[in-house]
Amino acid sequence: MKQLSNFDEIYQFLATRFGNEKEYLQAVHEVLHDIVPIYNANEQYKAFDVVRRLCLPERIIYFTISWSNSDGDVEVNQGWRVQHNSNMGPYKGGLRFHPSVNVSVLKFLAFEQCFKNALTGLPMGGGKGGSDFNPRGRSDRDIMLFCQAFMRELQRHIGANTDVPAGDINVGAREIGYLYGEYRRLNNKFEGVLTGKGLEFGGSYVRTEATGFGLVYFLDAVCAEHDTHIEGKTVVVSGAGNVALHAALKATQKGAKVISLSNSRGLLHNEAGLSESDINYAIEQHTASDNILRDMDSKKMGQWHENKTPWNLPCDIALPCATQNELHETDAEALIENGCTMVLEGANMPCTNKAQSLFSKHRITYVPGKASNAGGVALSGLEMSQNAMFSQRDPKLLDEELNDIMKHIHSLCVAEGKENGDDYINYMKGANIAAFRRLADAMVAQGI
Ligand code: NDP
Repeated sequence: MKQLSNFDEIYQFLATRFGNEKEYLQAVHEVLHDIVPIYNANEQYKAFDVVRRLCLPERIIYFTISWSNSDGDVEVNQGWRVQHNSNMGPYKGGLRFHPSVNVSVLKFLAFEQCFKNALTGLPMGGGKGGSDFNPRGRSDRDIMLFCQAFMRELQRHIGANTDVPAGDINVGAREIGYLYGEYRRLNNKFEGVLTGKGLEFGGSYVRTEATGFGLVYFLDAVCAEHDTHIEGKTVVVSGAGNVALHAALKATQKGAKVISLSNSRGLLHNEAGLSESDINYAIEQHTASDNILRDMDSKKMGQWHENKTPWNLPCDIALPCATQNELHETDAEALIENGCTMVLEGANMPCTNKAQSLFSKHRITYVPGKASNAGGVALSGLEMSQNAMFSQRDPKLLDEELNDIMKHIHSLCVAEGKENGDDYINYMKGANIAAFRRLADAMVAQGI
């Protein structure tokens, strides 16, 4: 088949084969618009058919996890690892345990991850994995037994120089510890095969905080670009997990008023702004609690509202940090009407396509997660290099390096995202093009 060149041809090629994978097609669609003109302007990119090859995963591993829970009952789950692109380094990207996990969700995440990792400037390819296992309400022992069974299969396909998974939704320090322990026992190797490890066994300082802190460092750069600053701004945050809580903490430390957190069951609202100690309480307790936000309500740290989201609250800045497609067109309308001027994604693809279009139509500053949440994987890259050197670096220096990386990603987005004769910065376009050039050059250099 000849190389494909125009947007419709490439999108149709994918849509006819993967028509039922809506999240994957959504992510690809979002990127193709920006990169196809760059591709068509470069004869080498076309000769190597880089766009179509970049959209397709190099390999998808699918497996069944049959395991015996702590009551001795047999349970069966599905697991995947999408090894999307390794032209820039070992496959790198998190593991997600959630009932909504399927091949479409993981393909979208792995595709996005390649672009994000390219923006960090570190040598990492892109991948993503996970299982439809639902950890909610499970005992610690069940979690351990599941993680061990999951790793018994996954360990065949990963390695410090091959594929280095990390955490994602419902996979935090505890799960990484159990996964790592099983890998080490089976392989008799102590190597940097996972990131997000405990500090006692090869983990890096600042990894836990990195995605949320990095998001706020990026916000700092966006504010500076727009001649303003975070201090005094009213910020709504969605989610109450790793990313949301650390973003809320850093924004508060920088003088913003963070008025919300949320989860899949509702919203915590504090009109006066959460204090640092409220957020630290949530960081310490959230993994142990069934609903940390309801607990915070009972401790007078805010009001809990069942089944509500933060998008109707008046604010200057919105940070969606929970999950994909959580912010719809009507939510975008409400945010714009209530004075929001900046939306930076902490989660992966939290804004639907229609919400994104509305933001650009109203010239709201909108930053996609592949740029603004790249701090987590950047620190993972730094964890990998510390593991390779059997060293552990100073937290202050790592935090400064995270800040520098986020500022650099911001400058790449601005350089590629400024539209001719217009001062509106299209951060999506900037991120897509800057990442694509690096990926495409690496693919051309390495041949077919
Ligand atoms: P966590 O598991 O720590 O937290 C997820 C949070 O999102 C929980 O509060 C959860 O609520 C909430 N949530 C999940 N599903 C929904 C839903 N459908 N509607 C509303 N809220 C929901 O995950 P992380 O904080 O690690 O990840 C959050 C997002 O950030 C994901 O998109 C992830 O891919 C992305 N990300 C994470 C990185 C990391 O370093 N951890 C790096 C880069 C991106 P509940 O408890 O009720 O389920």
